[in-house]
Amino acid sequence: MSEGVTGSKVELYDLNRPEIEALLSELGEPAYRGHQLWEWLYVHLATDFTEMTNLPRGLRQALADRTSITTLQVMSSICSSDGETRKDSLRLRDHNAIETVLMRYQRRRTACISTQAGCPIGCPFCATGQMGLHRNLSSGEIIAQALHFARILRTTDERLTNVVMMGMGEPLLNYDASLAAIRRLVDSEGFGLGQRRISLSTAGVVPGIRRLAGEGLEITLAVSLHAATDALRNRLVPLNRRYPLDELFEACHYYVMRTHRRVSFEWALIEGENDTPEQVSALVARLAGLQAHVNLIPFNAVAGYRGRASSPHRLAAFASQLERRGVRHTIRTRRGVDIGAGCGQLVCCQTPAPAGSRD
Ligand code: SAH
Ligand code: SF4
Repeated sequence: MSEGVTGSKVELYDLNRPEIEALLSELGEPAYRGHQLWEWLYVHLATDFTEMTNLPRGLRQALADRTSITTLQVMSSICSSDGETRKDSLRLRDHNAIETVLMRYQRRRTACISTQAGCPIGCPFCATGQMGLHRNLSSGEIIAQALHFARILRTTDERLTNVVMMGMGEPLLNYDASLAAIRRLVDSEGFGLGQRRISLSTAGVVPGIRRLAGEGLEITLAVSLHAATDALRNRLVPLNRRYPLDELFEACHYYVMRTHRRVSFEWALIEGENDTPEQVSALVARLAGLQAHVNLIPFNAVAGYRGRASSPHRLAAFASQLERRGVRHTIRTRRGVDIGAGCGQLVCCQTPAPAGSRD
C-alpha cells in the first residue's frame, strides 16, 4: 500500500501541508481552503467532514468521496490501577493492530506512540522484538495515535503535552514516515507541539542518527544502549552486530555536534547481566566527552526472556557509580507495568480481516 492512499481514498493525515493544498487546488478550490482543512485536522481534531462548517457543503462532499480521515479504531483499552497510565490497542486500516500508551504525570500528558507494527531488530528482552516486523506504519497512522489521545484529553480540558516515539518498532527504520509525523505534529499552524517535547528512541541505527542530525530539529534523541561492551550488546541488542559501539558513539558525537542537544541513553537494568561494575566502568568510559544523560529503566518482565530486574540494591549501586563518576542520570519511574504497558511490553495482534476487506 503506498503512503497516502487506502483503496481509492486518500488518507488526509498521510499528507503534508503542500499536499493538502495541492489536493484542494485539484478540486478547484482557492489556497485558503487548504489552510482551513489543515486547521480542522490539526487544531480542531475533526473526525468527520460534517464538522467542517466553514467549508462549502459541496466541497465537504467532494472530500468525503475522495479522502478519509485516519482514525484508529479502539479494540481495547485498559487503565493502570493508579489510573495514571492507559494502554489502547488500536486497529490499523488493515488487519494489524498496535498498542499505544498515554501517561499522566503531574503536569505532563505524554503519548508513547508506535512507529511500526512489531519490530525487526529482535532484542530478546522486548516483547515487541519477539514478534518480528509486521509492517511499517504510515505517517498518518503515527500521527493518529497522538491525536487519538489528544481528543480524549480534550474531553476533560487537558492537552497532550509530550510525545515519545518509544512504543512499538524502530522509528529510524521507518525514517520518512516518522520524520513526516514529527514535522506535522510540531507545525505551529496546526497541532503546535514544541519540538523539545518530542523524544525519539532508537536502538542505534547509525545512518538514521546521522541523517536526523541534519534535519534542523530540536527533538530529544534517546539511544537504547543497555550494554557498553560489544560482546554483551551483540546479545542484548542484535543491531549492534551491524553498528557496533564505536560507530554508534561516533554518530552520537556527530549528533551532539550538529544539534547542540544532549543525547539520552536508555539502560534497562537486568540482574547479573548489565548491572555489573565492569559495565558501569565501560559506560562511563564511553560517555567521556559527550553531552549525555543516562536513563536507568527498571527492567520489565517479559514472557520468553529469563532475565529479571536488578534488585533495588544493585540498581542503587549502579546509580551511585554513575554519580561518583559525574555522569548525569535519572532512574525512570516504572509505569503501567500492571497492564503490560511498560517499556518493552507492547505487543500487537493481527485481527481477522473484515469480510470484503481489500487488504
Ligand atoms: N526501538 C526503539 C524504540 C522503542 S523504545 C528502541 O529500542 O529504542 C522502547 C524502550 O524500552 C527501549 O529503550 C527498549 O530498549 C526498552 N525496553 C525494551 N524491553 C524492555 C523491558 N523488558 N524492560 C525495560 N525496558 C525495555
Ligand atoms: Fe525493537 Fe526497540 Fe524492542 Fe529492540 S527494544 S526489539 S529495537 S522495539
